[in-house]
Amino acid sequence: MIFEGASLTVTLRESQLADVVFDAQGSVNKFDQSTLKELTSALDAMRNHADIKGAMFRSNKPTFIVGADITEFNQLFKLPKAEMLHWLSSTSDLFTQIEDLPFPTISVLNGFALGGGFELALSTDFRIADSTAKVGLPEVKLGLMPGFGGSVRLPRVIGADNSVEWMTTGREYRSDAAFAVGAVDAVTQPESLVDAATDMLKSAISGDLDWQSRRAQKLNPLPLSQNEAMMSAVTTKGMVFAQAGKHYPAPMVIVESVAKAAGAGRADALLIEQEGFWQLSTTSESAAQIGIFLADQRVKATAKGYAKGSSSSIKSAAVLGAGIMGGGIAYQSAVKGVPAVMKDIRQEALDLGMKEASSILLKGMKRGKVKPEKMAATLANITPTLQLDAVSDVDVVVEAVVENPAVKSAVLAETEAAISDNAILCSNTSTISIDHLAKAVKRPENFCGMHFFNPVHRMPLVEIIRGEKTSDETIAKVVAYSLQMGKTPIVVNDCPGFFVNRVLFPYFAGFSQLILDGADFVAVDKVMEKIFGWPMGPAFLLDVVGIDTADHAAHVMADGIPERLSLIENDPTQLLFKAQRLGQKNGKGFYNHGLDKRGKPMKTPAEEAYELIKPHCKPQQSFETDDIIARLMIPMINESVRCLEEGIVASPEEADMALLYGLGFPPFRGGVFRYIETLGIANFVELAAQYEHLGPMYVLTDTLKSMATNGQHYFNQ
Ligand code: NAD
Repeated sequence: MIFEGASLTVTLRESQLADVVFDAQGSVNKFDQSTLKELTSALDAMRNHADIKGAMFRSNKPTFIVGADITEFNQLFKLPKAEMLHWLSSTSDLFTQIEDLPFPTISVLNGFALGGGFELALSTDFRIADSTAKVGLPEVKLGLMPGFGGSVRLPRVIGADNSVEWMTTGREYRSDAAFAVGAVDAVTQPESLVDAATDMLKSAISGDLDWQSRRAQKLNPLPLSQNEAMMSAVTTKGMVFAQAGKHYPAPMVIVESVAKAAGAGRADALLIEQEGFWQLSTTSESAAQIGIFLADQRVKATAKGYAKGSSSSIKSAAVLGAGIMGGGIAYQSAVKGVPAVMKDIRQEALDLGMKEASSILLKGMKRGKVKPEKMAATLANITPTLQLDAVSDVDVVVEAVVENPAVKSAVLAETEAAISDNAILCSNTSTISIDHLAKAVKRPENFCGMHFFNPVHRMPLVEIIRGEKTSDETIAKVVAYSLQMGKTPIVVNDCPGFFVNRVLFPYFAGFSQLILDGADFVAVDKVMEKIFGWPMGPAFLLDVVGIDTADHAAHVMADGIPERLSLIENDPTQLLFKAQRLGQKNGKGFYNHGLDKRGKPMKTPAEEAYELIKPHCKPQQSFETDDIIARLMIPMINESVRCLEEGIVASPEEADMALLYGLGFPPFRGGVFRYIETLGIANFVELAAQYEHLGPMYVLTDTLKSMATNGQHYFNQ
């Protein structure tokens, strides 16, 4: 044994080959501080061992190394610049030490070799992967760039253009794709991986494989033509900027760093990388993206925890209503292997539901993502019916009929009578209180809300609403079913609009007031899309949600939370609704919707909408960007804070992920709570105070105000 640690060991095998094996105590290998410390000692021991002729780096787990330990970033990134750069350069130096070992080296890749894991692989002379391997440098997804030499070595191994693509997209590449560009030197079947690696290493030791020239390639500047190409990186920058957009600085810093480092030798190139990494580590975008990564893990772990409480899995489902939502839910269940009965009262609706499922599958087939067998199996998994008794044997029923409390109550009562005593009944209502609907059923313990988002097959979130009488077993089963459907479930407590719609409607109300005060809805949309970063501005979103749906929901919210969300007189949404401008669904809303010459959806601001609204608005005037953002976002944030304080949502992380996955909250801002932390809670409180005169939606809670005074935070600082 040359070195023995808790996460890695080095032994001398036959033919004087050093076998460096990563096998951490947890489920995966990662570069946390203790593993890096062990690697330092292991490398010292290897250098001092005269007998070693070659070394292989491998893993004893189903994956190689998944990268740095992201949970440590928060602490590290708060260090002063000099200390942070010291940590970074001394860690990066470990990879340089691997590259400089006085004998040939090979990385043996199985499962994931990502981020720091792949950077280690790049520092060895050769890389061999098995067919299960996936490699890549995904740091950009955390608003960062590689920091352990990856941005220096990858361009020298696979060329500048390829490496910029790898690093700015952060994609994972299967071993065959990695082999095609030279990122790995060979691909084998898993069972022959170590033997093939041993053979390659022996060939290097014997001189059959020229490891020295491999190494030299990584120590030198990029060859001249590539170097020149990178120096005139204007086109690359333009392309990357167009893809990433102005809200994401990391891709641009990557291109600039690779360009700057192209003409440099290794040592200088690494300094350029470290400066770029440090710069990005100080951005609010990277704090937000790292926050999302960690919150996502927490939300998924919470869901798994809930699902464990389920005594049996869901084997069959039914959906009531084959409309936009019911059709989508039946499809999603079927495609993930849980057969679904789809029940409606109209044959046309059933036909439309099946047509929609086919069209999603056909699109997938065209893109090569869905095989014909999968299409056939999915369609066979949906049973359209007009008969209620077809649902009698299923484990779970999701009601998705029209958003009308009386209709829903009647449908739930007759359905409960038709299903077995332990079957679960859920409602996909978007606003109606679950406790109110529960009054219609005899077994409220088996009833809860299961709120999907439109379009169901695309939106990752399912809000699961626990009513006062809902049992833990019901929640466990519905969470488990959501996971079976490939969704991210977040359990919330009951209130009008639950969490996501409860905080969305104050935002819409802020929009309505702003329009009445003379703002142009197109200008507001532009600010909220281009500057704030929402996928669509409020007017466009209202058109997509449906003006009728939004109007209806506004009434439900006004009934439920009259103290803040009472109806606004001459609300523009209501004016459009009265004129039957229902939004995208009938082609007429704030915008007129149609198709362009290529058949793609197109919208133009509707003169008719202006005419309807104008008589009720103050004369049109322009508002400052910050003013527009504040007037829309303060009500949303305020309501989110209230939901957290009232226990509607359990944690700021879940709230942030719900808005990200349910509404497309801009990822570079990380969610409402991350956003106010970025602004500074005290600054936010001060800002909101300037808008209090606009009404109770803008008046913050005492708890939040005292958090600002006491310097408290939502996240560990
Ligand atoms: P929709 O009008 O497209 O579909 C409703 C369907 O229910 C129709 O096909 C109708 O024929 C059918 N139906 C009516 N009574 C029925 C009964 N007794 N039995 C079976 N089917 C019956 O409506 P939608 O947009 O799919 O909304 C359905 C539910 O989902 C509503 O509660 C809505 O609030 C909620 N929701 C909608 C969205 C959205 O964006 N559309 C998002 C989340 C939740």
